[in-house]
Amino acid sequence: MKKKILILALAILIITVGAVVYFAIQQKKDEGLKEDKHEYFLTSKSSKLESIDIESIIEYEDHYVLGVHYPVTENEEINKIINEFVQEHINKFKADAKEFFEGSPPPGGFSSWKYELNIDYNVNRPSKDFVCFKFNINIFTGGGGIQFIETFSFNLETGKELTLKDVFEEKSDYLNLISELSIKQLTEKLFDSGKVEKTPFAEDWVKDGADPTEENFRNFSLKDNSIIFYFEKYQVVAGAFGQQQVEIPFDHLREVLKIEITRNQIESEKPAEVILPEKPLNVEVGGAKIIALTFDDGPHPKNTPLILEELKKRNAVATFFVVGNRVQYYPEVLAQIIAEGNEIGNHTWSHKQLTTLSPEGIKKQVNDTQEAVKAAVGITPKIFRTPYGEISDLITQNVGLPIILWSVDTEDWKNKDSEVIVAHIITETDNGEIVLQHDLYLWSVEAVGPALDDLISKGYKFVTVSQLLGFIDNPTDAIPGEVFRFR
Ligand code: ZN
Repeated sequence: MKKKILILALAILIITVGAVVYFAIQQKKDEGLKEDKHEYFLTSKSSKLESIDIESIIEYEDHYVLGVHYPVTENEEINKIINEFVQEHINKFKADAKEFFEGSPPPGGFSSWKYELNIDYNVNRPSKDFVCFKFNINIFTGGGGIQFIETFSFNLETGKELTLKDVFEEKSDYLNLISELSIKQLTEKLFDSGKVEKTPFAEDWVKDGADPTEENFRNFSLKDNSIIFYFEKYQVVAGAFGQQQVEIPFDHLREVLKIEITRNQIESEKPAEVILPEKPLNVEVGGAKIIALTFDDGPHPKNTPLILEELKKRNAVATFFVVGNRVQYYPEVLAQIIAEGNEIGNHTWSHKQLTTLSPEGIKKQVNDTQEAVKAAVGITPKIFRTPYGEISDLITQNVGLPIILWSVDTEDWKNKDSEVIVAHIITETDNGEIVLQHDLYLWSVEAVGPALDDLISKGYKFVTVSQLLGFIDNPTDAIPGEVFRFR
């Protein structure tokens, strides 16, 4: 029954997006614009993410920044546990940040970095019945920061949290077996590969960290045919080598694994892939004054389509700087963004403060997002916006795309009133400017229609960032690492 509903929902989605795209194309053709040769495609959300959403909290204060992402399921029990976990970290971080801030400010002040809490996660779905979340918690208060892992596994129906005792036969000798297999794998990974020098001290470290105790193996995640165990930094090897993990195939665990863990697996999927022509990003503006509206931190399943509706009604387009980890949840929203002639920009994978990352860390934040957008809709963003608007030499040297900031900041995360935002946009925005808003806030979304009406009546036209800055006509102007705030 559920499957039928899913197929029906998927069919409706494909037909709806298809219709939207068809009419959008027809409309453009009527306007006499030539079709671009580029193509993009639409994939559906992975069935492993079925009934799972992502929630993001982004905050920007004088002394701290916060980017927290967490899953929302259809089970209230699960949501309650996740919420409490996330809220506890946020509260503790804010209290600590306040204490640090009022104590001694960091050397050099807060000009180069701020205290930061970043929580990101990934999802594994071993079967229809179970879901596993692995959270990466990053706290930055200077130095190398603190990173740790927290995993949760749930029965999606009952909301019950799974421990090792729910995964393995209690009477079996599972702890000794997983310890033995983990030590073997860690030995190969660390010593046999030559990564770590094999000394008696280092060997003991591995053995202690993967000793057969529940505590050592508390962080786990189930996949289709294997279980992953995560080890904290310093747990099995020196901190410089970072966090470690081992993946043990179920085939090696048959004698100790509970049978229900491998039931009701989700069939390997073939995502619906619809190839759609890309619309030209340049819109006819004649000699009109132009503005680029930009929306950060999405895609958002409800708010982004609302923005798109307001834009479309008025023949306006905008630019959406998306956060990579949200993209896989809402590929159809990305498809609609492009289908209606808007632009997609890259806004990192997890909204991390880039000034605290290594060159490799910065590149990973950018590239993972490029890949997520490509996997969702087949195109790769050509512009980038840094989280919290930060700029440093390390950032400009490693991003590899033009960096787009803004000249009009609605501060919509603080001004929680659409009328205030409308007033701000219409009084502050001039020809050639870039306006900053966020998909996450409904009050900001509600400001779009009235602000557009006012500015359109004053003769403005709304274009994408790439058109505003002339990147479409003159691609060589789009210099990687160069910072743009307006035309
Ligand atoms: Zn942002």
